[in-house]
Amino acid sequence: MSRVTLFADVILPLPVPNLYTYRIPFELNDSIKTGMRVLVQFGKKKIYTGLVRKLHEQPPKDYEVKYIDALLDTIPVVTELQFEFWDWISSYYLCYPGEVMNAALPSGLKLESETKIVPAEDEFSDEQKQVLTDEEFLVVEALETKKLLTINDLIAIVGIKNSDKTLNSLIKKGFAYREEHVNEKYKPKTEEFLTLTNDADNEEFLQQLCAQLEKRAFKQLEAVLAFIHLSDRYQKKKTWIKKQDVLKKSNASSAVIDELVKKNVFHSETFETGRFLADQKNKDLLNLELSEEQEQAISEINKSFNENKICLLHGVTASGKTEVYIRLIKEALAKGEQVLYLLPEIALTTHIVTRLKKHFGDVVGVYHSRFNPNERVEVWQNVFGHATDPAKPASRPKYNLVIGARSAVFLPFQKLGLVIIDEEHDPSFKQTDPAPRYNGRDTALYLASMHKAKALLGTATPSVESFYLARSGKYGYASITKRFAGVQLPEIMIADTKEAYKKKEMKSHFSPFLLNMMKEKMDDRQQVILFQNRRGFAPMLECETCSWVPHCQNCDVSLTYHKAGNLLKCHYCGYSLKPMTTCAACGDVNLRLKGFGTEKIEEELAIFFPEAKIKRMDLDTTRSKYSYMQLMNEFDEGNIDILVGTQMISKGLDFDNVGLVGILNADSIMNFPDFRAHERAYQLMSQVAGRAGRKQKRGTVIIQTRQPYHSIIQAVTRNDYFAVYENEVLERKNFHYPPFHRLIHLTIKHRDQKVAEQSANVFGQMLRQKLGNRVVGPEAPGVARVRNYFLQQILLKCERELSMKQVKEFIMQIIQVLRVDPKFKGIVIAPDVDPQ
Ligand code: ADP
Ligand code: ZN
Ligand code: ZN
Repeated sequence: MSRVTLFADVILPLPVPNLYTYRIPFELNDSIKTGMRVLVQFGKKKIYTGLVRKLHEQPPKDYEVKYIDALLDTIPVVTELQFEFWDWISSYYLCYPGEVMNAALPSGLKLESETKIVPAEDEFSDEQKQVLTDEEFLVVEALETKKLLTINDLIAIVGIKNSDKTLNSLIKKGFAYREEHVNEKYKPKTEEFLTLTNDADNEEFLQQLCAQLEKRAFKQLEAVLAFIHLSDRYQKKKTWIKKQDVLKKSNASSAVIDELVKKNVFHSETFETGRFLADQKNKDLLNLELSEEQEQAISEINKSFNENKICLLHGVTASGKTEVYIRLIKEALAKGEQVLYLLPEIALTTHIVTRLKKHFGDVVGVYHSRFNPNERVEVWQNVFGHATDPAKPASRPKYNLVIGARSAVFLPFQKLGLVIIDEEHDPSFKQTDPAPRYNGRDTALYLASMHKAKALLGTATPSVESFYLARSGKYGYASITKRFAGVQLPEIMIADTKEAYKKKEMKSHFSPFLLNMMKEKMDDRQQVILFQNRRGFAPMLECETCSWVPHCQNCDVSLTYHKAGNLLKCHYCGYSLKPMTTCAACGDVNLRLKGFGTEKIEEELAIFFPEAKIKRMDLDTTRSKYSYMQLMNEFDEGNIDILVGTQMISKGLDFDNVGLVGILNADSIMNFPDFRAHERAYQLMSQVAGRAGRKQKRGTVIIQTRQPYHSIIQAVTRNDYFAVYENEVLERKNFHYPPFHRLIHLTIKHRDQKVAEQSANVFGQMLRQKLGNRVVGPEAPGVARVRNYFLQQILLKCERELSMKQVKEFIMQIIQVLRVDPKFKGIVIAPDVDPQ
């Protein structure tokens, strides 16, 4: 007996409040299940991948129902538990199911009218094409001639039912790409390494060999001796030595080595170079004994886990938190549980992944936005434990440890046992745009509770919220107060720039104190990191005569000058133009560059330190997928003396040889009109400072500031988190901020300024009727126009005791009323719950 489910409610990837109902074609009636993807038509022409959320017999009342066009899966790709998780996100963060789905499903599992397909090569040989099916062949031919196909083109060729399958197969066979990811072929830096073959790797053999070679092939002898000499340092049997080093030492040519490989003396292999190999040599690292403090922390953590509490691990930078995580992960994996290790996006491209892979090998999956869709789908399927590709057999979950950025919370975990959120204080866990505006840390905690998994928050500088919860006993608390192995925390010193300016001692933006220390450290062959805050330091063009500054045509912001490309750019909408030569206000030609970005610093440093190798790490220099990693490798290998960077350099880098960290302008970090400004300033400065002297020698930090006695600066120098916390918590209480009050921020946008203001006023009034003076605003934000939309904002401050569920339902009702009001047609409302 087949079921009589005739209809499917489908989540569409659109910002609409409801699901849409489609009729199930008879032939799919037996195979369709919730959690499977379907292709459906929406509107006149658009094709979308939707997800079956519910099967039922109820025809929709108010619209004509269409048939499902195709079923894409034989097994569900989303579990019921995930759907419940999505529901929680949409109700907590005030967004629609389709928006959550968009964030959750990797784009490789989605197909939309807008998707563009491009060929992987200009032409393919007939030989290459032999692997293609007839249908695929047609598509490849079309790709060769047209160079770009839309989904509708694809459907015209192979029909809607085959479109998804054909596309995926072509991608897998290497014939096509989805357009957004064409330029992401990673070419890792590789080098050739040599080792002795098993036969050759004994004293007797080597002695005989040397005796032979001495007579007949002296060059070869030299090469063998060079190898032995170089490998001596690591008293281990199997040693890999760079071929280049052997050549250098022995003065032999590459052909000489080739001979020895032929003779089965050497075995040669090519490896990626960088940090990974350097660490591989030291297998002992894999079974570290934990220090007493680390053991103590673990028992505290386990104690809170036993009480079913979330635990906060508060350990200073380089105290060995990661080793603590590794121990806990081992235990969870041994029990057959899955582990999610969440990190801020940028920290993921660094050392930590290598470190964990070394420990856990093949079970580690990495998931973040810089991966292309195919890689992401692969991780998704491997976490799920079965292939969504019907051609592949179902198997057990392969990735039991996922290291990921916030979007990893959406992976289809089967049996999550442990969730670790590292750098829990980091504001970038919050997605600000588009919806869902979710916080990766908080959603991960919710996810953990759904799975009844243990949850650990780790950081050197806890967020005020988390520390408050630890203090009040809601969270468990473990701390490590010293760096590992007695390495001292860096010595933090202050350069008073106000004083230095007065005495006219500043060289551009550098104090003599900082410059001298840089020289000293570099003379001692140590590396230097300079930190420049991103905000407020963008270089701008300004008229000397009348102070006119060029503005964006779509947004109320001034344009930023980018030397690369010689362009003025808008950081809000991407608008750009060539710098003008005359002032648009007064017509004068006295336009000058103002401001002080990382680019400028890099330039000036080259004047002060002509010998030094200087590199810059910011959004501009790390745009492509692997450039960030390459910079890190270069720094690791000692090929950079001075690294100038923005926020990026503060995250989890574990370099060995950093003697000095300079914070160029601490005032720009502290002086922000934001209730979290001081908390952030402390976190940022401590994290940046934490990059100095992590091993062996004690590092030095110099903070340049005009306010040497500012409480935050003083706390940073004393490493006194608690002072900052006590201060902050008082302020938060007095001014109704988290953790005492919950915030919801509402942005109202419209292309017409009047409509934006009117609708915001109506919104404000309706809210006030119920919520009274918890409502602040509406008012225009600092940047009041973005992408030609006029903005208004309202802030809600609700005491913790208030039922947020009711407040949120109330807000959604009002939003619905405003959206359908013809007076406000075209209105956009963006709610942001727990804004950062
Ligand atoms: P954190 O995560 O707190 O910044 P790490 O875990 O990176 O600190 O530790 C700092 C350094 O100390 C690392 O190089 C790490 O390998 C080393 N380390 C930490 N714990 C141990 C241990 N128990 N035995 C040996 N080395 C350790
Ligand atoms: Zn002017
Ligand atoms: Zn703009």
